[in-house]
Amino acid sequence: MPKFENTQLFGGWGRSPLSEASPMRSDEDAHAKMDDITKFIASAPNGAKILARGLGRSYGDAASCAGGYLSAREDFLDIFEFDPVNEELRASSGFSLDEIMRRLIPKGYFVHVTPGTRYVTLGGAIAADIHGKNHHKDGSFINHVKNFELITANSRLKVTPADPLFWATAGGMGMTGIITEATIRLKKIQTAYIKVTTQRTSNVSETIEKMQNLDDSYTYSVAWVDSLASGNSLGRSVITWGEHADEDELEPKLADHPLAYDPNIRLKAPDLAPGWLLNRTSIRVFNEAWYRKSPKDKVLFESIPSYFHPLDSVSDWNRLYGKTGFLQYQFQVPFGQEDTLISIIHKFSKNRTPSFLSVLKRFGPGSSGHLSFPQPGWTLALDIPIRTAGLSELLDGIDFQVAEAGGRVYFAKDSRLIPELVPMMYPRLDEWRGVVEQYDPDGIFISDLGRRLSLRNSLKIKANLVETLGAEIGKGPNL
Ligand SMILES: Cc1cc2nc3c(=O)[nH]c(=O)nc-3n(C[C@H](O)[C@H](O)[C@H](O)COP(=O)(O)OP(=O)(O)OC[C@H]3O[C@@H](n4cnc5c(N)ncnc54)[C@H](O)[C@@H]3O)c2cc1C
Repeated sequence: MPKFENTQLFGGWGRSPLSEASPMRSDEDAHAKMDDITKFIASAPNGAKILARGLGRSYGDAASCAGGYLSAREDFLDIFEFDPVNEELRASSGFSLDEIMRRLIPKGYFVHVTPGTRYVTLGGAIAADIHGKNHHKDGSFINHVKNFELITANSRLKVTPADPLFWATAGGMGMTGIITEATIRLKKIQTAYIKVTTQRTSNVSETIEKMQNLDDSYTYSVAWVDSLASGNSLGRSVITWGEHADEDELEPKLADHPLAYDPNIRLKAPDLAPGWLLNRTSIRVFNEAWYRKSPKDKVLFESIPSYFHPLDSVSDWNRLYGKTGFLQYQFQVPFGQEDTLISIIHKFSKNRTPSFLSVLKRFGPGSSGHLSFPQPGWTLALDIPIRTAGLSELLDGIDFQVAEAGGRVYFAKDSRLIPELVPMMYPRLDEWRGVVEQYDPDGIFISDLGRRLSLRNSLKIKANLVETLGAEIGKGPNL
């Protein structure tokens, strides 16, 4: 029987909202641990709520479970089997991409998909079906997963792409059960460097045009957008395209150790950064400097951490937003809705919404989960201090605009969407519910996000929630 620690407050990377849950840890040895957790879940007390938690890098309430039990990533760190013949890795779900990269980059292997931080677990990467800067070429994380093992409410199963449960779990945000391990395919690389081509644009229309014309020639593509620029400069950007560098392209100093990988943390954010540190003025100054310092048109070699995970070099950088925290708003609109994208960027600029980091990417095709976020089109993500005036009304309006355009908001970043818009944004929601119902009819696996958005809507589950939820469900952030 797993042990339960006293309740603690849990939240996401945005540090708001928070809710209380009990961490759950099995005392058994590696071999018996999964049986122990499976048995506990199958006999869980009536009304108990359980959720897997990784490294808490989702921004909002996706990895929180008010009044329930949260699995500990430390229970899922036993298996790490690299198979160079088949270029695959079988690993427990608690391993982070950081740990995977540290072990495998020096051997010449990389993950097919990495997000903007390497501090995400394998379980969290599958549950959110994460995307990287190469979605237009390589799809999302699940496109490179061969199989995984899942503890559901009533069983422990090996799940493959032939099974609808595979696609319900990819993007299912932990609500199909606990992923214990996965086998993923790896990418062979010659060096630990990326050949980066940078171009500056004068406005968002030019950014869109350049990305449309040039993205297909590169594996990686991303644009940093100045959210505060206006007028003829609206949405001016710095686009970087990247390609894994071959050994013979490196200058001699780097070519001596082509697979050297040094992802160490260089700085630590202060514990008590004042809330005003990142405000409209400081962000405007930063944006201006960033835009000006970026080369107009240049090719450089960058290390993997510098190109993919620049923010990871500052630990706890989320504290820079002070006590009130921040949120990340990430939405997606299909191709053909470029006017909607521009109009939304215009709204952020008009509201003078400070965003230290606004990132535009293009999604391509690729099979994906019922609730996976990516679909062909444009995605924009902005980090916004919660204390920004008028933020709530602004984002509420943009949510509707995104839904009407056939787009969606990313659950892994969300803390404030309303349930009424979810079926429009995620038209396969009922299909997902149908699959999940078979494995968890009582709705044991539910997050605060799932409750807030009524993702598991069966009447039985709703009745249970009302009856058993004495605990305070994490409220939306105090906007
Ligand atoms: C700086 C930064 C940059 C980011 N950039 C990107 C990006 O470029 N692209 C992108 O797609 N995302 C991005 N993200 C979001 C991040 O990749 C996802 O939120 C990811 O799910 C976080 O993984 P985690 O291990 O921290 O999971 P958590 O945040 O702990 O959990 C996230 C979800 O996964 C579920 N989960 C976790 N472990 C398991 C498991 N073992 N079994 C079943 N379910 C599980 C949880 O229940 C929860 O619903 C970024 C986040 C940060 C902080």
